[in-house]
Amino acid sequence: MTNASATTALIIGGGIAGPVTAAALARVGVAPIVHEAYAGPADQLGAFLTVAPNGLAALRAVGMLDRVRAAASFDTTRTEFVNGDGRRLGLLGDESRLPPELRSVTITRAALQRAVTDAAIEQGVDFEYAKRLRSYTDEGNQVTATFTDGTSATGDVLLGADGIQSAVRRTLSPDAPRPTYTGLLGIGGYVPAVDIPPTPHETVRMVFGARAFFGYQRAPDGRTFWFANLGHSERSREEIAAQGDETWRDHALELFDGDLPELTRIMEAADPGQFRPRGTYDLLSLPRWHRGRVGLLGDAAHAVSPSSGQGASLAFEDAVELARQVRVHGGAPAALAAYERVRRDRVERIAAEGRRRGARKAGSAHPIALAIRDASMRLAFAMIRRFGSQRWITDYRTDLADTHDDAEASSSIPGSRP
Ligand SMILES: Cc1cc2nc3c(=O)[nH]c(=O)nc-3n(C[C@H](O)[C@H](O)[C@H](O)COP(=O)(O)OP(=O)(O)OC[C@H]3O[C@@H](n4cnc5c(N)ncnc54)[C@H](O)[C@@H]3O)c2cc1C
Repeated sequence: MTNASATTALIIGGGIAGPVTAAALARVGVAPIVHEAYAGPADQLGAFLTVAPNGLAALRAVGMLDRVRAAASFDTTRTEFVNGDGRRLGLLGDESRLPPELRSVTITRAALQRAVTDAAIEQGVDFEYAKRLRSYTDEGNQVTATFTDGTSATGDVLLGADGIQSAVRRTLSPDAPRPTYTGLLGIGGYVPAVDIPPTPHETVRMVFGARAFFGYQRAPDGRTFWFANLGHSERSREEIAAQGDETWRDHALELFDGDLPELTRIMEAADPGQFRPRGTYDLLSLPRWHRGRVGLLGDAAHAVSPSSGQGASLAFEDAVELARQVRVHGGAPAALAAYERVRRDRVERIAAEGRRRGARKAGSAHPIALAIRDASMRLAFAMIRRFGSQRWITDYRTDLADTHDDAEASSSIPGSRP
């Protein structure tokens, strides 16, 4: 990879990180090909997520911001935290100081994947579907990927953007820790207009209920987007399916019985399928993100719990940072090493923060424990608001044109470059 214009990058995974990485690399002269296991963009899969200002800024750097904003369901610029009785614990995230195009949005995962894929195709990126990576061989001067359909592909560099269960990671680092179950199951989706008080303008309401956690926001079109996190022991997908959606629905309704009545009203309007939970997992730290000509990005490198609200945004930052390092260093091993050096501290801190946030969600049966929880959270949110102590997460900016070297990057705010 001495001449960037002659470099081909095999990108494994056409989810969220893959298309953005491909577009970012194309901008620095690399020829990327995305290999995705599914037969096409997974239009029916997943619920919704937030793209934060740091993620939107990274999308701007690769010319995808307008498309993603156009595909978003609505802006979510503030978060109101209440307890199960509806009493306010905190209000965070006034983004009025930011330019409108960088204010947080809520978007369905399907729409986000479609938007970044279409934008990448428009920018000349090739996609190969129904290509599930089995393993790869790094031959020193090139890398060969083999797929489960028996075909193979060769490139100068191979990048694993294949999600939390990454096959690339298994080959790159067989001893790497497995993703950790966070103790929470996630359910949710969207319901048509229901008779509930509207959420304040551009504000998602997060409810620390007595026994579980609930989030919802009313969309401008009248729908309500909702999710809930239920403390539960780990279950496999098969065990979850075997229990039946109706049983999960009853369980969720029971957990929120006695909390704000609108939570029950939202769930009563939801399809049974929205109650089939997904386990939530994270991956706080890997021994390595790269080896030779192979590297990891997005959830493959550092899965953050959904409680951080940063999974997609960090993947976009990764994509831009890697391309920036290719521009600076020209060669695959050096660029991958520099990329890991710049990214690791920041994403590990955010992953740890996501785990801390998730730990407060399970609730408690005991009223005194709940009163202590509420008091400590009121204090914590007041401190965050007063000192802006979460801004290091969302104020981070990276850009392809940036020519900072690693020393400069790591000498600024920890995990951040202004
Ligand atoms: C189906 C699905 C639904 C999701 N729904 C939500 C949601 O509702 N809310 C939320 O916050 N997060 C959701 N996520 C996770 C979220 O997309 C990621 O946390 C984040 O956006 C980082 O994206 P990523 O591209 O690194 O990983 P992912 O979004 O997981 O994308 C990885 C891609 O790699 C592909 N892949 C996996 N293995 C292979 C292989 N061996 N060979 C080739 N391709 C492979 C996958 O099919 C997928 O397209 C979902 C992920 C998936 C895969």
